[in-house]
Amino acid sequence: MHLVAIGGSDAGISAALRAREVSPGCEVTVVVADAYPNFSICGIPYYVSGEVTHWRNLAHRSIFDLEAIGMGLRLQTTARRIDVAARKLLVTTPDGRGELLAYDKLVVGTGAVPVRPPISGLDGPAALGAGDGVHLLHSMGDTFAIMRTLDTASPASAVIVGAGYIGLEMAEALVARGLKVVQMEQLPEVLPTVDPALGALVHAQLAGHGVEVLTGTAVQAISPAPAGGQARLRVEAVTAGGDALTRDVDMVLVVVGVRPDTGLAADAGAELGFKEAIAVDRGMATSLPDVLAAGDCVVTHHRLLGENYLPLGTTAHKQGRVAGENALGGNREFAGSLGTQVVKIFDQAAARTGLRDHEAAAAGLDSLTVASEADDHKAYYPGSHRIAMRFTGDRATGRLLGVQLFGHRHAEVAKRIDIAATAIFHGMAVEALSDLDLSYTPPLGSPWDAIQVGAQAWTRQARLR
Ligand SMILES: Cc1cc2nc3c(=O)[nH]c(=O)nc-3n(C[C@H](O)[C@H](O)[C@H](O)COP(=O)(O)OP(=O)(O)OC[C@H]3O[C@@H](n4cnc5c(N)ncnc54)[C@H](O)[C@@H]3O)c2cc1C
Repeated sequence: MHLVAIGGSDAGISAALRAREVSPGCEVTVVVADAYPNFSICGIPYYVSGEVTHWRNLAHRSIFDLEAIGMGLRLQTTARRIDVAARKLLVTTPDGRGELLAYDKLVVGTGAVPVRPPISGLDGPAALGAGDGVHLLHSMGDTFAIMRTLDTASPASAVIVGAGYIGLEMAEALVARGLKVVQMEQLPEVLPTVDPALGALVHAQLAGHGVEVLTGTAVQAISPAPAGGQARLRVEAVTAGGDALTRDVDMVLVVVGVRPDTGLAADAGAELGFKEAIAVDRGMATSLPDVLAAGDCVVTHHRLLGENYLPLGTTAHKQGRVAGENALGGNREFAGSLGTQVVKIFDQAAARTGLRDHEAAAAGLDSLTVASEADDHKAYYPGSHRIAMRFTGDRATGRLLGVQLFGHRHAEVAKRIDIAATAIFHGMAVEALSDLDLSYTPPLGSPWDAIQVGAQAWTRQARLR
C-alpha cells in the first residue's frame, strides 16, 4: 500500500501521521511544494512580533521527526496532474524534472490561497509586490518576505487591509515591532465573525493600543507614494459615506481571507461544492476513485448548517486524520465543525462557537440572542475580569445554538468557549448548562461558572417572551 499525500501542512501531515499510526508497514509519501513541512502557520504573527524567536520554532515536528516516523518527504516538489485511471501523480522535482509517482490512495491537502481583492495596484503586469512592501500572508514564504521588508526597509508605518482574526493578530505583531498601524475594514465593525457588540469591544482594544481603526472603509488603490514624501506607499480608500481618504505608509499587508486551492483536484475531474471547495463525503472521499481530500481545500461539514466552508487549522487536523485512516480501509467520519475559534487581541480574547442570529435564521431556526456579563472568578479574589457574553438559543426547542465571548486573555475565554462547543456538539439545551458539574475555587472560578450565568440569563429572557 502506497499512500501519497499532497501538501505538507495540517491536513496532509495529519493524514500521513494517521496512516503510519494505523498501519506502520504502509509506505507514505508527502509531496510538499515548499521546504517547510508541518509548520504551524497559525504561529506566524507571533514570529513576526518577536515572541517566537526563530522561524524554526514554528515547526510542530522537524523533518528529522517526520522521517523517523517513516514518512517519505518530497520537498520543493509540486504536484501537477492526477491521472486517476492509472493512479499516478505527476510532480515537478526540485531540479525541474517531471516524475510520475504511483499511488494506491491519494490524499489531496492543497489547502487555501489568500484572496487578492480587486484593489488597483494588486493586479496586472505592474502589480506591487513584496519588493515594494506590499504583502499577502499565508505561507512561510510570505512570512520570510514580510520579515525581509521589516528588517531591510525598517518601515515606520503600515496599513493592514482586513480586520478578520489574522488582520488583528498582525496588527498586534506590527505594533509590537514599533510600527504605527492603520487597520482598514470595509465592513461596519472589526472581527465580523462575532456580533458587532463584541466587535466594538475588540475595536476599542485596538484603538487603546494605538491602532488607527477605520471601519466601513473600502481600500480602492495602492500605489507608490508621491516622490518627496517620507512614506513608500499610498493607500486610497472610500468610506461607507462616500468620502475619500488617503494614508501614506511604508508597508501594506492584505489579509482579507482565503479561497480553497482546488485546481489540481478540479482538473482531474473532482466535483466541487460549497464556495467551490472540493466536495467530500463525511469520510473525506472525493468524487474520484481512490482520492480523498482534507483541510482548507474541501467543503466543511458543519454540525448545524450542513455543507459550509470554514478554513481552520483545528478542522484540517481532524479531517486529515480521518482521510489518513480511511485511505487504509478505515471507516471514520468527520464529526463536523461548529466554527469554534478564538483570537487574542493584545490583552483580550474574543471567541465564538456555533451560530449567530443571522446564521440560525438562514438555517430556518427561530433564535434569540441574549447579552450578559460575569466575572471569570470571584471578584473578591484579586485579578478578576468581566467576561462579555452573547448566548444564542433556539426559541422553539431551547437548544443552545451559539456562544460568543470577550474578555481578558487570562479569563479562560478559550476554555469557556470550549465548554459551549462541547454542549452544542452534544445538542444540549441552554438550560441544561446549569446542571453541568464545573470546577470551582474562588481564585479561578465561581460556584456558577460564567458560562452558566450566561445560560441562565438566556433562559430568563426566553421565558419572558
Ligand atoms: C497567519 C495565520 C494564522 C492562523 N491562525 C489560526 C488559528 O489560530 N487557529 C486555526 O484553527 N487556524 C488558523 N489558521 C488557519 C490554518 O492555518 C489553516 O486552516 C490550516 O493551515 C489549513 O491546513 P491545510 O493543510 O488544509 O492547508 P495549508 O496550510 O494551506 O497548506 C497547504 C499545503 O499544500 C502545499 N501545496 C499546495 N499545492 C501543492 C501542490 N500542487 N503540490 C505540492 N504541495 C502543494 C502547500 O505548500 C502547503 O504545504 C491561520 C492561518 C494563518 C495564515
